[in-house]
Amino acid sequence: MGIRRIPALPEAVRTGAARRLKVSDHTMRNARLRLTSLGLFLAFTVLASTVLPLPPAAVDASPSPDSYSYRFLVDEDGFTRVEVNYSSPGTGSSWVFVPKFSNWTHAELSGDIEESENLTTGAVAGDDYYFYQAFRFRFKSAGTFLMTVRFNMTLGAVVIEPRGVFYSPQIGFQEAGRASAEVLLPQGDTIDAGKAFAVGRASYGPSQLKGNYALFELYENLVRLQVEFSKSGKPEMRTLKRGIFTFHAVERYVDLAGELLDLYDGVYNSTVELFNVTLPSVDVEFFIPDFDSILTVGGYVPFAGGRVGDIHLNLFVERFAEGTLEVVALHELVHHFLSQARISPGSLLWFHEGMAQYVSVEVVDALGYEGAKTERESLEEAASGLIKRFYYLQYWSPESPPANMGTYYAASYYVISRLAEAYGGLDYYARFFKTIGDARISDDDVLAYHLSLAANASVARVLSGWGFNVADLYISSSLIEEARLAVGGLNPLFQPYKYLAGWLYRQGVASLEEGDARAGNLYLAAAIFLARWAPLLTVATVVAVVAAVVYVLRARRAKPKPVLPDATAVLEGFGKPDEVLVKPPKNGGRLGTIQVCGNGKLGEVSAISSRHQRTSNNLRS
Ligand SMILES: [Zn+2]
Repeated sequence: MGIRRIPALPEAVRTGAARRLKVSDHTMRNARLRLTSLGLFLAFTVLASTVLPLPPAAVDASPSPDSYSYRFLVDEDGFTRVEVNYSSPGTGSSWVFVPKFSNWTHAELSGDIEESENLTTGAVAGDDYYFYQAFRFRFKSAGTFLMTVRFNMTLGAVVIEPRGVFYSPQIGFQEAGRASAEVLLPQGDTIDAGKAFAVGRASYGPSQLKGNYALFELYENLVRLQVEFSKSGKPEMRTLKRGIFTFHAVERYVDLAGELLDLYDGVYNSTVELFNVTLPSVDVEFFIPDFDSILTVGGYVPFAGGRVGDIHLNLFVERFAEGTLEVVALHELVHHFLSQARISPGSLLWFHEGMAQYVSVEVVDALGYEGAKTERESLEEAASGLIKRFYYLQYWSPESPPANMGTYYAASYYVISRLAEAYGGLDYYARFFKTIGDARISDDDVLAYHLSLAANASVARVLSGWGFNVADLYISSSLIEEARLAVGGLNPLFQPYKYLAGWLYRQGVASLEEGDARAGNLYLAAAIFLARWAPLLTVATVVAVVAAVVYVLRARRAKPKPVLPDATAVLEGFGKPDEVLVKPPKNGGRLGTIQVCGNGKLGEVSAISSRHQRTSNNLRS
């Protein structure tokens, strides 16, 4: 978009130690009810929270006579001149950190450099520092060798009256007999005695502190200085406007504010297209975070009364890789767009933060900034170490910030970015915001439903796979329609199955209306099953009934034959029974009606009675 930026300053570091993010309780209290972009700083350096009352042992147990002394001269606007003076008797070699991406010089006041080279910091110090390189040199001198390295830092200190914070470049040098660093602020400034530290593996205060001056003995060879101070007077404020955006900036940062307004204005139309809403107005300002969190909070928007407030951007972020401040600025703007789209951070913070990170990195990367790439790498690296069970995200809210905030940001980013990967990147979310319409998305079930509509597939299932407790309303909606058609299309003859399917359908709809999606889905699925199989079940039922009837009838007809041997035995003594006994009676002999004797078996009774009749007849004749 043709946005020009001032060159990145030699600042941010990338070290193994830097990934051990520590956020103090104090920081957490300040994060309360703010939507911060903390997660953006997972890989950035942070201050150790340990403050030692006494300095640790000296760097070198057997001191050599050489020495490094640093001098930081800070002006009214925070611009800092850096001098590194090295002295050593005779000949020898050493190395010192210098900027990699900006100008620096060295001058020998006494003696000569015979040979020198620039190396990676990792080659001499073990860790890689992104903005620095190591100047290694071999020298000789008839007397004392004296060399001075010089470079400048535009934002050595950030200043918004009445506060200012100086944060030194990375100090790095070959271990020497003695090392020290002094900070000199403008006349009238006052260093806060409780907020002046040298920070390496340990932290400790200055050996001398007076007004605008502090002197630190350096007990480690890899260290930074952090010094807070107060200034008299009020900040000289300027107001810049661009479209819907208004930036309230201190005069000394007006150029930087203008560049950020260019960014906002440049991406506004495409972000309106993405989120499907416009913003009435957005106010922006710089801020200096608390002393303990100057490098752990990128920016924030306050959240109160269900509304998000002005965008606040941490000035120190300008010292990170080019594009990092733009990512933070976009991150906070996304919170505004999401709120305008009726998605509240109060109930869906994980979605807010995940979207803010994903969208900001994608948009700024498309503009060609290096900082967006490094941000993505940091987030991916953090996410790769996570167990992919993110149930805890659903309990995340502005009112209850977790201690391991970085995990929450990384997990949120992971979920949002992986859904984008599966369903079409930023276009997927553009579809999502178009499907929302006038709906207010207040919980994960409804969110998953709209995400599913945009994906044309059930996202609730994907979220469930990541440990979310979420109902599948997308399946419910398709089940309702499917069940309605299946039950409604059933022939009324298919009973009682049509009736039962209809009852299940009504139970399913009632359960969904009561918010019980799981029961609703089960009822509806059962209704569909029953409706589909109703014809066959009806036929089967009819067949079964007919078969039962036929069986009974056949059973009735299949009466056993008379048991003649028994009858013969009975009639012994009366002579041989004639054939008449086993023939059906003539003249409609009503065998069936002779039920006056026998053993309960009608057929036998009838036959025997016939024989009795026949026998009686014989007797009478
Ligand atoms: Zn955020």
